[in-house]
Amino acid sequence: MAAAGLRSAYRRSRRRLIERLGGAGIEDLTVLHAFDSVPRHLFVPEAVQHRAYEDVALPLGHGQTISRPGVHALHLQLARLTGSERVLEIGTGSGFQTALLASLVREVYSIEVVPELATLVHDRLVALGIDNVELRIGDGSLGWEERAPFDAIFVGAAAPAVPDSLRKQLADGGRLLIPIGAETGQRLLLIERSGESWQENTVESARFVPLVGEEGW
Ligand code: SAH
Repeated sequence: MAAAGLRSAYRRSRRRLIERLGGAGIEDLTVLHAFDSVPRHLFVPEAVQHRAYEDVALPLGHGQTISRPGVHALHLQLARLTGSERVLEIGTGSGFQTALLASLVREVYSIEVVPELATLVHDRLVALGIDNVELRIGDGSLGWEERAPFDAIFVGAAAPAVPDSLRKQLADGGRLLIPIGAETGQRLLLIERSGESWQENTVESARFVPLVGEEGW
């Protein structure tokens, strides 16, 4: 298919995905709008680009996967972003959620442990003219102390327990989304900080790749 035809085919399948997310409980219009503005097919390997607008996880190489759009949409909706936030993302992966966040908040800080993935994301963000993201290569399991506090923290890989450093790096009123558990079974936790207390709720069962590193597996 010629480039223009392919672009409009992607636009149509993107619209269908957004309708599907809307029908599956994603009511936050700013989140749906973000999905409309970020071309997911540019964040996956060429071999799976034709599946970019299905609600499925896809392989990124290096044993990693891009999460299902429905998962990213739910996490973004749960964070109740208003546009002025500074957020931390742990596990940049494909950079798709990074780009969604960049369109939804003021500043994004994102850490990825696999250098090759981080380099690809850097190039994708530059190509799309996204300039409110700071990327770091390394272990994000201890957060990013120098850039804290964060209004929201998104962890895209499953940890054995909630790292204390992440609780502490939340701003007052901030929200942390983190999958907890082993590869065989996890639950997604939403933690909200209010002063020196952290309220914890299980959102749903989850399936993420393991968080490695000091506070990981
Ligand atoms: N939201 C991303 C998730 C990718 S999978 C996406 O949908 O594309 C999770 C990512 O977390 C992988 O890229 C993996 O390399 C990374 N990761 C695992 N442990 C990490 C750690 N300790 N610090 C930073 N990144 C980590």
